[in-house]
Amino acid sequence: DWCDIEDIIGTSLNRLRETTKRYALTVNVAPALPMLKADCVLLEQVLINIIDNAMKYSPHDSEILIRAEPKDGTVVISVSDNGVGIPEEDLSKVFDKFYRIQQPKHVSGTGLGLSICKGIIEAHGGLIWAERRPSRGTTIRFQVPVVEEVVIPERMVK
Ligand code: ATP
Ligand code: MG
Repeated sequence: DWCDIEDIIGTSLNRLRETTKRYALTVNVAPALPMLKADCVLLEQVLINIIDNAMKYSPHDSEILIRAEPKDGTVVISVSDNGVGIPEEDLSKVFDKFYRIQQPKHVSGTGLGLSICKGIIEAHGGLIWAERRPSRGTTIRFQVPVVEEVVIPERMVK
């Protein structure tokens, strides 16, 4: 299917509705973003997992920024929070099945969310990774290649 990123972000936020009210959410989608050839429901699931984490590992009322922009034939989507952050040595491990970081205050979970996201994004030929923010908190970023619709050019006839 062809997926509109702005719709996918909107649907994901609706699905998380009650909890999102406790955070200062900002959505920033670049104009004229290309549509993505993807399984839209799976992309929603990716965003739901990432935004759920952003909220779970951040204090109430803190800011969460969701961005989408084109870059080099891909669309890059990111979720940035001001939460507890991920230590440098765990940045790639958090995508492993059942991997969870010990928190001072116990937060429940199975450690599957991000491994599922990784599977879905890689199935679309994309990449996903975690970054430490310079101030505090985490950015989870993923990119999905833009598959151009095949346009058969008009034949040049003499
Ligand atoms: P669930 O399966 O319910 O999603 P989970 O949230 O623990 O459980 P993942 O979503 O896979 O599992 O995340 C793995 C681990 O990475 C988390 O346990 C947490 O330690 C860390 N993590 C993920 N996102 C963030 C974030 N935004 N800020 C800080 N730590 C995070
Ligand atoms: Mg999670």
